[in-house]
Amino acid sequence: MTQIKVTVAGAKGKMGQEVIKMIESDQKLLLTGCLDRTLDGVDVGDTLFNKRNGILFYNNIEKMFQHVEADVLVDFTTPFTVKQHASIALRFGISPVIGTTGLTEEDLTDLDKLCETYNRGAVVAPNFAIGAVLMMKFAAQAAKYLPDVEIIEMHHDQKLDSPSGTALKTAQLITQERVKKTQGHPNESVQLDGSRGANYEGMRIHSVRLPGYVAHQQVIFGGIGQTLTLRHDSIHRQSFMPGVNLAIKEVGKLKQLIYGLEHLLE
Ligand code: NAP
Repeated sequence: MTQIKVTVAGAKGKMGQEVIKMIESDQKLLLTGCLDRTLDGVDVGDTLFNKRNGILFYNNIEKMFQHVEADVLVDFTTPFTVKQHASIALRFGISPVIGTTGLTEEDLTDLDKLCETYNRGAVVAPNFAIGAVLMMKFAAQAAKYLPDVEIIEMHHDQKLDSPSGTALKTAQLITQERVKKTQGHPNESVQLDGSRGANYEGMRIHSVRLPGYVAHQQVIFGGIGQTLTLRHDSIHRQSFMPGVNLAIKEVGKLKQLIYGLEHLLE
């Protein structure tokens, strides 16, 4: 059986650790190297599970790709580093699977061009949980009939970017389906900056950051005499792993960048 060789950037992070457990539990996948800002030459298993597994941490991504064989790079790092990691992976002939959020539309366009240059695919998914993908899909359907909508996303307080990638992607999908409109009273008066949230094409997005949350989102639609609320809760980071696993297995078959897990499910 040919195994898919996987490297992980952000391996010591909350998502990275789940990804490593998932890779180690799937015989079709083989972990070959991990990237961490500080650790270099240290055994990954020893650090994360108190059990040596012979796989090393590298503190430089180019050095990692020079030393280990890899088909895929899974990246769960930060909005400041992910684009550089993905670009270097593509240059080394390695397909990126990106879960890190905070990439701008310009970043996505640049990565798309790089995929074309290197004739290789990449997956960028702001949310790898199937329930969240369904929530986004249902939200786009509902917006056709109920165009007044606000998004409230709730995340743990260590999250760096706002609004969340999921909220932005939801807003983008809704915009493709709803009639263009600016919501609320035209003479609305804001007493405290930010109280109405961020404005995306006339709809509002609110970001809550609190300890205790993992990743949650409500999409609330308002109509005459009624409201409709769609809600998704990731209560454990394991919720993202089937999606990451699928992306690792599919990315090698792609020749372009895809944005959103839904494109692998259909
Ligand atoms: P986290 O716990 O802070 O982990 C981030 C990891 O990246 C840390 O280990 C950090 O190392 C490392 N890192 C930072 N800068 C680096 C660099 N220059 N080179 C290599 N590694 C570096 O964050 P998390 O909760 O795992 O989330 C990571 C990302 O995934 C975020 O963007 C989050 O929004 C996203 N996310 C996506 C999904 C999805 O389904 N797509 C789901 C959940 C989260 P240090 O500890 O040394 O800083």
